[in-house]
Amino acid sequence: MQSLWNEVEAAKHTGLLEERVYSSRLLGAESALVLHGGGNTSVKGEAVNIFGESVATLFVKGSGSDLATILQKDFAPVRLDALLKLSRLEKLSDVDMARELKLATLDPAAPAPSVEAILHALIPHRFVDHTHADAIVAITNTVDGEARIRALYGAKVIILPFVMPGFDLARVCAEVYAAEAHSGTIGMVLMNHGIFSFGDTAKQSYERMIELVGRAEEYLQREAPLESPVEPVQTADWQALPELRRQVSAAAGFPLLLHCCPDTLAFARHPEISAISQRGPATPDHIIRTKRLPLLGRDVAVYVNDYKKYFEENSVSAKVPLTMLDPAPRVIIDAEFGLLTVGRSARDAQIVEDIYRHTQQIILRAEALGGYCALGAAELFSMEYWDLEQAKLKKSGAPKVHAGEIALVTGAASGIGKACVQAFLDRGAAVVGVDINPAVAGMHTGRADYLGITADLAEPLAVAGVLEKTIGHYGGLDMLILNAGIFPGGKKINALTDSEWRRVMSINLDANLAILREAYALLKLSPRYGRVVVIGSKNVAAPGPGAASYSASKAALTQLARVAALEWGSDSIRINLVHPNAVFDTGIWTEEVLLQRAQHYGMSVQAYKTNNLLKVEVSSRDVAELTAEMCGPLFEKITGAQIPIDGGNERVI
Ligand code: ZN
Repeated sequence: MQSLWNEVEAAKHTGLLEERVYSSRLLGAESALVLHGGGNTSVKGEAVNIFGESVATLFVKGSGSDLATILQKDFAPVRLDALLKLSRLEKLSDVDMARELKLATLDPAAPAPSVEAILHALIPHRFVDHTHADAIVAITNTVDGEARIRALYGAKVIILPFVMPGFDLARVCAEVYAAEAHSGTIGMVLMNHGIFSFGDTAKQSYERMIELVGRAEEYLQREAPLESPVEPVQTADWQALPELRRQVSAAAGFPLLLHCCPDTLAFARHPEISAISQRGPATPDHIIRTKRLPLLGRDVAVYVNDYKKYFEENSVSAKVPLTMLDPAPRVIIDAEFGLLTVGRSARDAQIVEDIYRHTQQIILRAEALGGYCALGAAELFSMEYWDLEQAKLKKSGAPKVHAGEIALVTGAASGIGKACVQAFLDRGAAVVGVDINPAVAGMHTGRADYLGITADLAEPLAVAGVLEKTIGHYGGLDMLILNAGIFPGGKKINALTDSEWRRVMSINLDANLAILREAYALLKLSPRYGRVVVIGSKNVAAPGPGAASYSASKAALTQLARVAALEWGSDSIRINLVHPNAVFDTGIWTEEVLLQRAQHYGMSVQAYKTNNLLKVEVSSRDVAELTAEMCGPLFEKITGAQIPIDGGNERVI
């Protein structure tokens, strides 16, 4: 492990709190040290109150922030004397502690101080750094972990047994620190949890962390070298995943996304997988990420090897009540699919994935070191009553209407399709955007809840490929928006060629038949039942001269959708249509074309744009919002409907 300390950068950060921000971010930049909000840091300094008095203060990381991106305001200023007084109490429940910590802060707007704040206060050094470094977790999660840590660090480091983070851990720390610390002490290892380093300057404390963890990494490299496994070939049947997602969602009581990580097959097929994956999660923080499993009677991350057996044994029914503490697994390890992670949002599933990928390495390292052995059942049980965690769960707000659901939008790179992608993202869905235009792949970069696929859906094999990717990424399909289509330039029937007619039909009609046919099995397995919205056209009810192929294709598509509504009603799949007209904020309608058309009808551009009964402009966003609503609860009892969105058109009405 390399120190990332840079003197030039560090010099730009003046003042204790700014130095604290700088070195905290260095820790956060290293995923082998800190992952998704894990770890915390502090600095002891002075704050001036309203009376102009100087108050000895602990600036400690507040909850809800991430070390990698932490700012000054993310540190809670807490009165040091109050923290030390609290540490002398005999007992303090987690709820009382959370309240007292909040009371002791010097700024009511500050975030809640870390549950490890008292522990930070007890360590007399100015800077204190704490991480859940993978290498430390791997070594301390073995049978003789403590002896290994002692042999590795000697007297430089104090060792604490595993205690739940909170007041009890702070008390144990107070005792052990008072008895064992000396001038040469530079850190503290917490068994099955992580490591603290401390120092008089930000640099000293940070570099001690790097030195200590670096030595643990070298130790593992020497004592437990890992060969990179040869990943076996996947033989999985993709169609099985939507069924699994349906079951997991039924167990939770609401839709969940399921993300597949096929590059983890070697781990899933480890000969000892059924034993090592069940020995418990790697650190307490990782348990926090999981939910209660009443069916198992405790809070655990479920490392299910055989999900079919799991569902059978626990006789999960679709009638499990919707609770914050849902019984659905978050991690599934399967010999056919590898690691599968579950989340209410794509971001949640990604966090679970990141954590489990690290956990997987920790398990393999600890196995190579003689045997992975995580926290015992008694400790796990006590987590069930961890008040703070319960309070945190209660606080998280209501999920969005399409949280945990997957929408697929065709023709997603521009116009109505692009606006549909946004409308579904806004409603909490994971969205797959498909377009022949490669720009679709570059939209919403860095978001876990968007997948852009470049494909020509008129190609016979393209549809299956797109659906397979959708399943691998999110586990299934709930909502299908058939938007892709072309509008060729005006041509009267006497000049219409067969090839143009066929081209329009193949894109506007045939491709949609193929998608509907292939997506049917997936829509049937949607936890809230599948929904399809077809983007039709005003031309279905009111065709125009010179648009024979377009009008005929949209009319046939409408008829196809109506028949699908008849056929799939018994599967509770709903299919509705919107018929937009005069949506001008799309790629084909440049200012020039608009002006030309307006002049053709002897109108101003504005009059041309609002040439409808209500005299309103219809935008892509208007169509997209209606489309998204048609997939929501308002349209729960509607199928086969056709809604014009055109500002009112005499010929349609
Ligand atoms: Zn910790």
